[in-house]
Amino acid sequence: MAIAVGPDLTFSDTVRERSGEDIHGCFYCQKCTIGCPTAYVMDYKPAQLLRLIQMGQKDRVLGSSAIWLCVGCETCGTRCPNRIRLAPVMDTLRHMALEEKYVPEPAVYALHRSFLDSIRLWGRVHELSLIMEHKARCLLAEPPLFFRGLISDLMMGGDLILKGKISFLPERIKRLGEVKRLYEEATRFRRAQDAPLQPEVER
Ligand code: SF4
Ligand code: SF4
Repeated sequence: MAIAVGPDLTFSDTVRERSGEDIHGCFYCQKCTIGCPTAYVMDYKPAQLLRLIQMGQKDRVLGSSAIWLCVGCETCGTRCPNRIRLAPVMDTLRHMALEEKYVPEPAVYALHRSFLDSIRLWGRVHELSLIMEHKARCLLAEPPLFFRGLISDLMMGGDLILKGKISFLPERIKRLGEVKRLYEEATRFRRAQDAPLQPEVER
């Protein structure tokens, strides 16, 4: 991958400080990418994303779909010889992208929101309701997105239901209250961060 040095050379330091992960320690062995379950749909693979951060390519990183497709499984952190965890890095990048008004691709952002809602409601992913919410969000955001891949989605969904891989009814985990508290804390944290911006926004 040929990369030009980007204009924002403070970017990697900011990501390192906010995520707590040693971005500069990455030597591009790509073990994280090989183990990542969603790398195949990312525009930049996890190791590529870290290299882009090191090179100050802020626009490409914050505008990428990859940051919205990480599911926070922590596989990369367990494989990395330098113990670099991509999950907190991706969290940081998503926050920065929203703060700086980078607009994610609607279908990818809809999937991200649907995933979070499923975890908040059930404590785990319930595939059927996640897919339905994702389709509804796509329809509201950009109607043609609803129809993109609809036939293949229906066929694959039907196949998985017949094989018993997807259940019709969601199942809540036992300690759902703890998950909900995490969401409440995250909401409070975000509001506290947004608060200093309010007067400027109102002016
Ligand atoms: S496994 Fe670690 S060192 Fe290797 S590319 Fe990924 S983040 Fe970098
Ligand atoms: S935490 Fe994100 S980047 Fe790391 S392996 Fe899981 S999905 Fe991939």
